[in-house]
Amino acid sequence: LSEKLQATLSDVRQRGTLTEDDVNAAMREIRLALLEADVNFKVVKSFTASVKERCLGADVVGALNPGQQVVKIVDEELTALMGGSSAGLAFAPRPPTVILMAGLQGSGKTTATAKLARFLKENNDSSVAVAACDVYRPAAVDQLVKVGGQVGATVYEKGTDENPVDIARWALDQAKQDGKDVLIVDTAGRLHVDESLMEELKEIRKAVKPTSILLVVDAMTGQDAVNVAEQFGEAVNFDGVIMSKLDGDARGGAALSVKAVTGKPILFASTGEKLDQFERFHPDRMAQRILGMGDVLSLIEKAESQVEEDEARELEKKLRKGEFTFEDFLSQLKMMRKMGPLSSLLGMIPGFQGSQLKNMKVDDRELDRVQAIILSMTPEERRRPELIKGSRRLRIAKGSGTSVQQVNQLVKQFGQMQKVMKQLGRGKMPDLQALMRQ
Ligand code: GDP
Ligand code: MG
Repeated sequence: LSEKLQATLSDVRQRGTLTEDDVNAAMREIRLALLEADVNFKVVKSFTASVKERCLGADVVGALNPGQQVVKIVDEELTALMGGSSAGLAFAPRPPTVILMAGLQGSGKTTATAKLARFLKENNDSSVAVAACDVYRPAAVDQLVKVGGQVGATVYEKGTDENPVDIARWALDQAKQDGKDVLIVDTAGRLHVDESLMEELKEIRKAVKPTSILLVVDAMTGQDAVNVAEQFGEAVNFDGVIMSKLDGDARGGAALSVKAVTGKPILFASTGEKLDQFERFHPDRMAQRILGMGDVLSLIEKAESQVEEDEARELEKKLRKGEFTFEDFLSQLKMMRKMGPLSSLLGMIPGFQGSQLKNMKVDDRELDRVQAIILSMTPEERRRPELIKGSRRLRIAKGSGTSVQQVNQLVKQFGQMQKVMKQLGRGKMPDLQALMRQ
């Protein structure tokens, strides 16, 4: 998906102005790219419709050209399509939280069971047990014993002789007795969604009353994954999705449609065979991955996080009155740094020539040092630099890993800067960096 979309969008990106024809052409390409990526056609239709509507009525952000504006909208709509912000897992008010894993055979349930156990141990400090309820293949129990053991989860298993519903019930009792925070129930899959599979899931559900049912779907199966999710949804109504094998050549199609079609959020992404290749699913990151255009997106973010007008005016007022303090300086420094190295920022602006950047080298380490020194000052010292003498200087130098001389130098420079600013009076904002280099 990403290659195709990227080509389409870079085409749009190069245009200076955007007409309705341009938008239509871009939408046609996006529609094709999405269909080619095996995204559900209904999803594609409503997606392109809402992107088009927004493109035509778009508020233009100053720093963006119309093509970038389209990219920004596509990115936001892709993110929204996958659920907007990342969704969390529900926990039971009284432990154990019971998670029932569902999905077709080979979708990655057993792997995801161990990965989720590891994730919850690491991130929530939970004690986790897993239950082996796939009794149809001896290898399935062995597999869970193995991967469960690798992640330090307690594995409740009774081989393959008992029925899965009884095992699940017994495992829940064990988990309570053992004081586990979480019990994850691994179940059997089938090659296709069938009646007996759904029956079994319903019975296990009745026996353990899970806090959540998580459906594991294989991202590599594209449109099929979405159909499977739809069928599971109708039969047992799951709560969230684990998207597995997102590391493969997955074109993102399944991830794109599954939320739109089933209404259930994707909670986790499994991205490899190793047990730590598992993470919370972030719709915005996935959208960026699909778009594959970090540069444009980061420029957009930077443009948006630019100094607010009000804030700048406030600062200017302070400067005129000579009330500029280390606090203000620090916040200015931080804002400047949020936008990244100045030279790279300018480089992203369309139409800016490389040759114009030559004189704009900024030493990042210098800024690190300045920032560290200011951070080691007390708030009082930041507001009244004249306090910074003797033992205070030593303390600040130690705290910031610098020398007393360096602290002295900064305080002195800052004093000069304040003086210059007062003199400037009504003048416009001076270039702080140039002053610092003096
Ligand atoms: P189950 O039948 O649903 O329990 O599926 P398994 O957990 O046994 O996984 C089936 C196969 O897919 C195994 O070979 C796993 O190693 C592999 N697998 C599972 N999750 C992932 C993943 O995120 N990425 C990759 N590359 N392989 C995975
Ligand atoms: Mg399995």
